[in-house]
Amino acid sequence: MTNFESIDAHIEENLESNLDELSRLCAIPSIAAQNIGLEECAKVVADMLAARGFKTQILPTSGAPVVYAERAGKGDKTLLIYNHYDVQPPEPLDLWDSPPFEATRRNGKIFARGISDDKGHFVGRLLALDALLAQEDELPCTIKFVLEGGEEIGSPDMPEFVKNHVDLLAADACIWEFGGVNHEDVPQQIMGMRGICYVELSVERLTMDVHSGLGGSVFPNAAWRLVWALASLKGPDERIRIPGHYDNVVDPSQRDRELASALPYEGDDYKERYGVDEFLGGVSGNPDFYLQEAMQPTCTICGLDSGYQGPGTKTVQPAKALAKVDFRLVPNQTPEEVLENLRVHLDAEGFGDVQIKYLGGEAPGRTDPDDPFVDLVVKAAEEVYGMKQTKVPMSGGSGPNHAFLHYLDLPIATCGMGYPGNQVHAPNENIRIDLYVKAAKHMARIIRDFAAA
Ligand SMILES: [Zn+2]
Repeated sequence: MTNFESIDAHIEENLESNLDELSRLCAIPSIAAQNIGLEECAKVVADMLAARGFKTQILPTSGAPVVYAERAGKGDKTLLIYNHYDVQPPEPLDLWDSPPFEATRRNGKIFARGISDDKGHFVGRLLALDALLAQEDELPCTIKFVLEGGEEIGSPDMPEFVKNHVDLLAADACIWEFGGVNHEDVPQQIMGMRGICYVELSVERLTMDVHSGLGGSVFPNAAWRLVWALASLKGPDERIRIPGHYDNVVDPSQRDRELASALPYEGDDYKERYGVDEFLGGVSGNPDFYLQEAMQPTCTICGLDSGYQGPGTKTVQPAKALAKVDFRLVPNQTPEEVLENLRVHLDAEGFGDVQIKYLGGEAPGRTDPDDPFVDLVVKAAEEVYGMKQTKVPMSGGSGPNHAFLHYLDLPIATCGMGYPGNQVHAPNENIRIDLYVKAAKHMARIIRDFAAA
C-alpha cells in the first residue's frame, strides 16, 4: 500500500520550492544569544505549519516563545517532532564566504547560519509531510511539532515548558532535531545526549589593578587565585578531582561497549581535521575511543580572562580574573549536584574567594538502544541510504532531550541531514543537498512505518 516511489518523486520534484522556503527562514536572523528575531521567526514557522493544515499556537515562556502545532492523522498513534528555530550568532563575519543570512548555493551545498542547526531539519520535515499529503488527504498518524527558540542558549525554558504541557505534548514517540552521516557517509542513529553544567568562575580581590612592583609581593593576585582554583578541578591525568563527581555515573553497559565496538573509528579523521597529534590518555580505536569521547564526564576550560593582553609588557597585577568552564555530564549526573559539589570542593580547598555563577545546565538523557521505535527508524533508513544505520548510544553534545524523556516517557530517535563538514556553530555552516533529500525520504518512511506498526 505504501508507494514510496511516488513519495520520493514528490520530494525530488518539490525540492526547489521547499528550498526557497528554507532560504526565507534562514533570512531571519533568529539569534537566541542576542535576543533578536525570535518572535518574527516563531511567526513564520507557525505560518509554514498552518499552510500544511496544522493547528498552531505560539506559546509564551519566560524567554523565546514555543511554536506548537498539531495535525490529526488517520491512525491512533501520535508522533512528536522536536526542532528549534533559533540559531547561533554568525560572528566572526569576516570568515564567511557569503553573507550568513543569505542562503547561498555552491557545489551541491547551501550555506547559511542555522541552515543545518536547525532550520534545514525543520523545513526538511515539511518536504516529507508535503509528499505524504500529496498521496492522501490525511496524514497516516497524528503529528505534533514543538519548536523552541532557546536551544542555542541551553534551552532554559524547555524543562518547565514540557513539565507544564505534558498533555499537549503527549505522544507515542519523538523524532529529534539532528543526526546524519559520519565521515564515511555511513548514516548514524544517535540515541542520547550528555548533559551539561556551565559556570563562570570569578575572583575579585582588589578594587583596581595595581603596579606589580607595589602589589606583587603583598596583594593577593586574582589571576593566580583563579589558576590555582582551576588546577584543583582536574589533574593532568584528566581525572576530575571534585569529590562526589563520579558518584552517580552509570558506566557504559555491555551493550554500549558492543555498539561502540561496531562504530567506525573517527580518530584519524579528527587528527587531520583538527591537527591533533595524540588523544588524551593515548586512546585509539573503538570501543575505547568512542566511550571516552562521548560517554565520560568532562571538565573543560572554555575561556580565561585576566590582566593585560595587549602587545609588549604592562607590569600590572590584575584586580579580577574570570574563567568559563563547562562540565559535560553522563547518566545519572545532574547539573544541580555538580554545582553543589563544586562549591563544597572550592571551599574545602581554600577557594572561598572564587565566585561561581551558574550559566545554565541540562541533565543527560538517552533512549534504550533496543527500543522498538529506534529499530523502526533504523530500518526505515536502510532503503534510503542503501546501508544500515549504525547505532550510536550517545552524542557528546547536550540538548533538552532529558525533559522529553522524563516528563513524556517516550522513546526518542534521530533523523538528520548532518555530516562532519557542515560547520554548525562555525562560519560557513552548510547542508549537503543530497543528504537533505535523503533525510526527507527517511522522515516520510518513519511516519508511514510508525503509523502502520
Ligand atoms: Zn546548535
